[in-house]
Amino acid sequence: MNAPDLTYFRKGFGLKQDVEATLSADYSGQVVDRLRAHDYQLTLGDLTVRLAKEFGFCYGVERAVEYAYQTRHKFPDRRVFLVGEIIHNPHVNQRLREMGIQILMPVDGVFDYSVISAEDVVILPAFGVTITDLQTLRAKGCVVVDTTCGSVLNVWKRVEAYARDGFTSLIHGKYYHEETRATASQVEKFPGGTYLVVRNMDEARDVTDYLEGKGDRAAFLAKYGKASSHHFDPDVHLRRIGVANQTTMLARESLAIGEFVGQAMASVHGDAYRRENFRTFDTICSATQDRQDAVNALLLERPDVMLVIGGFNSSNTISLAALCAEQVRTFHVEDALSIDPARGTIYSRDPKTGEQVETTGWLGDGTRTVGLTAGASTPNNKIGDAVVRVFATRGIDASALG
Ligand code: SF4
Repeated sequence: MNAPDLTYFRKGFGLKQDVEATLSADYSGQVVDRLRAHDYQLTLGDLTVRLAKEFGFCYGVERAVEYAYQTRHKFPDRRVFLVGEIIHNPHVNQRLREMGIQILMPVDGVFDYSVISAEDVVILPAFGVTITDLQTLRAKGCVVVDTTCGSVLNVWKRVEAYARDGFTSLIHGKYYHEETRATASQVEKFPGGTYLVVRNMDEARDVTDYLEGKGDRAAFLAKYGKASSHHFDPDVHLRRIGVANQTTMLARESLAIGEFVGQAMASVHGDAYRRENFRTFDTICSATQDRQDAVNALLLERPDVMLVIGGFNSSNTISLAALCAEQVRTFHVEDALSIDPARGTIYSRDPKTGEQVETTGWLGDGTRTVGLTAGASTPNNKIGDAVVRVFATRGIDASALG
């Protein structure tokens, strides 16, 4: 029997009980508990806040953060590093820094591991890391604590299968996002493995135009150079396509892109060709899907405004805000501090343009209902802080709830 590998961990250290109290103190919140206990609604004065029934920390984030805490506990005397942000929430990352965990940040997407030695401990984030990064770290002989989410691993399996079978992985995602970079790299497990990342339906249309003979090779390569394998050639690598997606995209758009590309292939080459040479698989994770479904249910109640809390670089939060903005005036804020009750202002990211703007009088007058949701990396205490500031904007003191 092989000796156990004592430098690679992905199933926790059995220290849950040792870190539970700290985790709860750092991230749980009484305001959210109260909202949950009262059918996700809180009315004070003429203001009502309604919370979506699925929101905030997802199972993958909870696991990754808990695992990071366990790692600190397990290795109190070692240097502990994290490859990039563990999740896209500035408070959580700051808390980890305060615990002495050093966060390595990439330059142009590349991490410098020269500071890492065999005595160190390195945590991989919930998004996962690229194959090259993992190989580099394993070669160092340091302890690697891998918190890659199981739902991300499922996407990797899909992409691996596409590469093994000679299909180009067409990934609906953001090519620069950590998860998509890690996912795309999985094709490298097979010689000739190829990927292409498209961000949205407009970019999917570039692919279908090319399939239909309307594209320009040089222009296509110029536009997608950073979003595709270095050897990608649209004349060669769009013949067999397998669709997958970053787990946090807008589910509806991912499905539409898969359908759209499949139809284009069938219209050019026929249904029999499509059956042989096109595959699609929805790899949106269930937590993302549940949050998007819950916000759709909340929107049916027609809140006057929507407040979406989460990092401006958080993909799943951006997807939630985009959904809301289709129907209701929506403010995507990073945290409670974006809401200034004294000035009646809110600092938010416009879900349609991506611009960051300050708005005065955002809450309006009279009886109002504020719909509320939060991305998968936003802890409950931060959601509660925002609720308190929403009420404070109307001069209502809700701080006793927290
Ligand atoms: S958003 Fe989904 S894939 Fe990402 S960590 Fe959460 S559960 Fe995992």
